[in-house]
Amino acid sequence: MNPPCARCGKIVYPTEKVSCLDKNWHKGCFHCEVCKMTLNMKNYKGYDKKPYCNAHYPKTSFTIVADTPENLRLRQQSELQSQERPGSYSNDHSLQAR
Ligand SMILES: [Zn+2]
Ligand SMILES: [Zn+2]
Repeated sequence: MNPPCARCGKIVYPTEKVSCLDKNWHKGCFHCEVCKMTLNMKNYKGYDKKPYCNAHYPKTSFTIVADTPENLRLRQQSELQSQERPGSYSNDHSLQAR
């Protein structure tokens, strides 16, 4: 019996299945939660049972201090920037440099 896709809920057949994070995904549905970049078993980063690319993987140290006003403001700025310029983070260093 074929399992449903964790992203779209449709049946995943073995030829297009990615088994990851205790779930099953279509290859095309296994993409970053933030930028929708298609991921694979080698470059994904799992967090909270969801796949992220290297640039958008939620850093643990980031969430611990995220409640200060300064960090909230910085985070909103970076979210706005990533929405305005999709694909601008093809080079991962832009986020990691912060
Ligand atoms: Zn799917
Ligand atoms: Zn991403």
